[in-house]
Amino acid sequence: MSTKLEWLKEIDGQLWLVEDEKENLRLYYRVKEVIHAEQSPFQHVMIVDTYEFGPTLVLDGVIQTTSRDGHIYNEMITHIPLLTHPNPKRVLIIGGGDCGAAREVCKYAQVEHIDMVEIDELVVKVSKQYLTEVSGNLSDPRVRFIYEDGTTFVKNQNSTYDVVIVDSSDPIGPAEQLFSYEFYRDIEQALKPDGLMVCQSQSPIFHMDVLKQTYERISKLFPIARVYQAVVPTYPGGLWSFTLGSKKYRPEQLEDKWNKEAKYVNKGILKACFHLPESVRQALGV
Ligand code: SAM
Repeated sequence: MSTKLEWLKEIDGQLWLVEDEKENLRLYYRVKEVIHAEQSPFQHVMIVDTYEFGPTLVLDGVIQTTSRDGHIYNEMITHIPLLTHPNPKRVLIIGGGDCGAAREVCKYAQVEHIDMVEIDELVVKVSKQYLTEVSGNLSDPRVRFIYEDGTTFVKNQNSTYDVVIVDSSDPIGPAEQLFSYEFYRDIEQALKPDGLMVCQSQSPIFHMDVLKQTYERISKLFPIARVYQAVVPTYPGGLWSFTLGSKKYRPEQLEDKWNKEAKYVNKGILKACFHLPESVRQALGV
């Protein structure tokens, strides 16, 4: 097991995970134990047990999901598109190696098939093994795991999916292209004529440039584009954004269709998440 010490610091006899957010911002999480640490061909993959957030997935020193708040992100990136589409049968997840998004999609009985295209098999392996609070140790036979770059995979799809969920890491390293215009254009092609997509579009507090660019790109490709938000404590700034692009269906009255078990999403959240803070609304021009 290789442990990259640059992300783990011993301070006064305690072990801390140090997450460098940006030049002038660092977050520290006290670590109980390093459960797994390994360099894959794509990134450094770690599971650390933290005092506040429990077992946590860390890629290249950046927290991806934690046992305590991972459900917030995973419920929001899945239930909004799946409720917006009246009959989602074929779903594609790009990234999502912690399996939390796939786990939520499996709650929909009408979904017949889920392709999960993750570049790094090691992320899936360690998440299933050590991050069961998030992954649910996913073994639903509707899920097909494909270990490939998501950008290459979507290029070869045509009118295949009802819903595409881009559950990517930050726009650096292997995920950089998952924020590009060409990639969203290929997703548009991969969707059926009434299909829709969603992606995580970063923090409205710290990455407004990424959110604005994502919203503009998706608005160019889809007649319906909407941004919604959730609060995820372990993501920088807390407030997190998602952008939905839809060819036909509008994300309206989702609360009327809500009948699932969840820890974060409820009827009120389904209405409130589309009400954006004033500064965000103004920056996006919506
Ligand atoms: N919820 C998380 C967040 O917002 O930080 C992201 C979850 S998930 C762990 C992100 C996954 O995207 C990672 O497992 C990573 O390996 C995968 N990924 C990055 N680039 C990719 C690519 N080009 N194709 C497919 N998967 C990719």
